Amino acid sequence: MFYLNTKVMFGKDALQRSVPLLAGLGQRALLVTGKRSASASGALADLEPALTANGIQWHTFDEVSENPDLDTIMAGKERFLSANCDFVIGIGGGSPLDAAKAISMAAANDLKRSQLYSTEEFLRAHPIVAIPTTAGTGSEVTQYSVLNDNKRNIKAGWGHELAFPTLAIIDPRYTFSCSYHVTLNTAVDALSHLLEGLYSQSREPIIYPLIHKGIALIVQNLKTALQEPQNYAAREALALASMYGGMAIAQSSTSLQHSIGYPLTTTFDVPHGLANGIVMPQIMELFWDAAGDLVGDALGSFGYTRAEFLAWLESLNLNVEMTIDEQFIQDKVPEVMASRNMANNPLTVDAEDIAAIYRSLI
Ligand code: NAP
Ligand code: ZN
Repeated sequence: MFYLNTKVMFGKDALQRSVPLLAGLGQRALLVTGKRSASASGALADLEPALTANGIQWHTFDEVSENPDLDTIMAGKERFLSANCDFVIGIGGGSPLDAAKAISMAAANDLKRSQLYSTEEFLRAHPIVAIPTTAGTGSEVTQYSVLNDNKRNIKAGWGHELAFPTLAIIDPRYTFSCSYHVTLNTAVDALSHLLEGLYSQSREPIIYPLIHKGIALIVQNLKTALQEPQNYAAREALALASMYGGMAIAQSSTSLQHSIGYPLTTTFDVPHGLANGIVMPQIMELFWDAAGDLVGDALGSFGYTRAEFLAWLESLNLNVEMTIDEQFIQDKVPEVMASRNMANNPLTVDAEDIAAIYRSLI
């Protein structure tokens, strides 16, 4: 089954074109964002008149940092309630968008910190508007929110149908201000989602054409976007690919590719997309027997072989400074094995497979 419960407005002036769609969502919005991205991207400057045109008031919660944690969600919930908000607008990369979803859920269901992953308690949600300023997570079209449990030092996601944004407003120009590395890492994240849409046990063939197109768009446009940050065509291609990646994992969920990356982020602060990217060849090798035909079809759709794709990936120079040792492997392999996404792998993965991938990074 293919399911997507989000209205999507995509392209130049998407926000201006969304003015009628914002009407009726609520009277007072909580703007959930990070420190800079809402203003640096230009999204905030476009949003304010759109809200004013609808008589919507707003209150800003700009305390979301990268890899949002449970304490931030609780602070956002308190702000939502004390400011009498009735819907949320997430502006930024995946971190503010995921935080906006969790704040909506926490406020609507009066969740305690210990219940923020308890999806059985998620009975209602306040409307969620998602305005991405990166092209990577696809969170604007997914039902997922990935949060750090800062007390347990674990990064884990949840998914719930009520967390699909009500409205996604995607203007590729909001990514013009992304740095070289944010552009690179987020595009590689989107690539991971597209590939996982093929790897997953819950893969959905209806979306294969979009997965094929998404992979092609990234391979054909990423280097242009890196060299010319204001090249609209390249930014549009990446934003589209990111949305397709979100649509793919919304159906198929993620798998080992993401589970193995999370400990690299919590332990070494490796940005999310980069953590996926540095193990991408190893995961492709591990899954090739089970999903190689599907990946081969995707790459073939734009005339690439697996070897050519891997050479292109290598040319991106995805490098990380980190010290993986046997203690890390001993500690983290059980965490990866226990993660929910592991059920989606296309073949049985054992602890030694995971340890071997970590060792390949030493
Ligand atoms: P991010 O953590 O949201 O942002 C990374 C950095 O980029 C931040 O410093 C941010 O600044 C900056 N930034 C964002 N947009 C910018 C812009 N237009 N101009 C200048 N700077 C900008 O990065 P992300 O990779 O998009 O999101 C990663 C998070 O999403 C992770 O927690 C990951 O687990 C999650 N994720 C969620 C899903 C899902 O389906 N829900 C899927 C994949 C990943 P600010 O601090 O000012 O914001
Ligand atoms: Zn991801």
